[in-house]
Amino acid sequence: MQHLSFRNQDSMPALGLGTWKAQGEELIEAIIKAVTMGYRHIDTAMIYHNEHEIGQAIKQLIDSGVVTREELFVTSKLWNDAHLEDHVATAAAQSLGKLGLDYLDLYLIHWPIAFKHTVILPESFQDYYTLAQAPLHKTWQAMEALKASGRVKHIGVSNFTVRHLEGLAPFCKEFPEVNQVELHPLLQQESLLEYCQKHNILLTAYAPLGSGDRHQSMKAEQEPNLFAIKQIHGLAQKYDVTPGQILISWHLNRGCSVIPKAMQEIHLEENYAARHIVWAPEDLASIKDLDQHYRFINGHFFDCPEQGYGWVFA
Ligand code: NAP
Repeated sequence: MQHLSFRNQDSMPALGLGTWKAQGEELIEAIIKAVTMGYRHIDTAMIYHNEHEIGQAIKQLIDSGVVTREELFVTSKLWNDAHLEDHVATAAAQSLGKLGLDYLDLYLIHWPIAFKHTVILPESFQDYYTLAQAPLHKTWQAMEALKASGRVKHIGVSNFTVRHLEGLAPFCKEFPEVNQVELHPLLQQESLLEYCQKHNILLTAYAPLGSGDRHQSMKAEQEPNLFAIKQIHGLAQKYDVTPGQILISWHLNRGCSVIPKAMQEIHLEENYAARHIVWAPEDLASIKDLDQHYRFINGHFFDCPEQGYGWVFA
């Protein structure tokens, strides 16, 4: 398995398993199958409401000797309602409690947006804190303190643009180690990738397959289908693999980590095998033309001009 190195030379398996929208027995079984197959990196978040099941699966895997805790890489994320300094360590402790773990390998600020405490999804502008009331750099300083406590080994952010990262920079003892964002051939984020590479921030790709199983209400009409792109099919033929494997292996060949969500065994196997595909440089270059800056998860659901939040990705 390919690994990406952190600044302290710890490493993260480049291919992980996403778990958003996955729950219950299906998720427990999928994690057990995945880790037995060789996956070592699991991505979750408080807001996925599945940390408890993931913890159960991990316990079974460790108890039955399939894997040790040290061999696994587990990520969770701080929800938007716990950005105030006093809430960060408590939120991490709650995730650890649900996962049944002593430490997280990686903890991320999920979005650069703050809600009032206990607001899961905002219903009015009054549910938001302004960024003056809950500055991102204060949340980040609490993340640094959390890392110093040893409860999380690495800290990072998610859905941060270059603008958000630059805003943090003057206040950081340590710059984020990871930024997890949407990435795929229709949204290549070249300038963000360049910025992250320059600052030794690992970039992780979410929604690498287009997040087709998310709720209809989150989808644009006639959104594109990554699996149907002609060039992706051409490359799949050339490398004798599936379009899904091309979509996943593109990130690995580009120096990013990638966390496709898969519950079906056939998908778990297919995605895991994608790590073997080595791209010719001209094929990597050919993907550049596909960029449309298209977001499946467009972030407009968090627009709140009354509290100073324009479009998060602007
Ligand atoms: P995704 O991984 O792009 O797509 C998941 C869908 O693709 C599921 O329906 C899955 O089916 C299907 N699939 C998996 N492998 C396949 C294959 N080889 N061929 C055909 N279909 C395949 O979407 P996502 O879940 O939105 O993103 C991945 C992960 O990124 C999430 O689960 C989550 O961990 C993370 N994420 C983070 C954020 C953030 O704000 N930080 C946002 C979104 C996602 P089955 O499940 O039926 O196998």
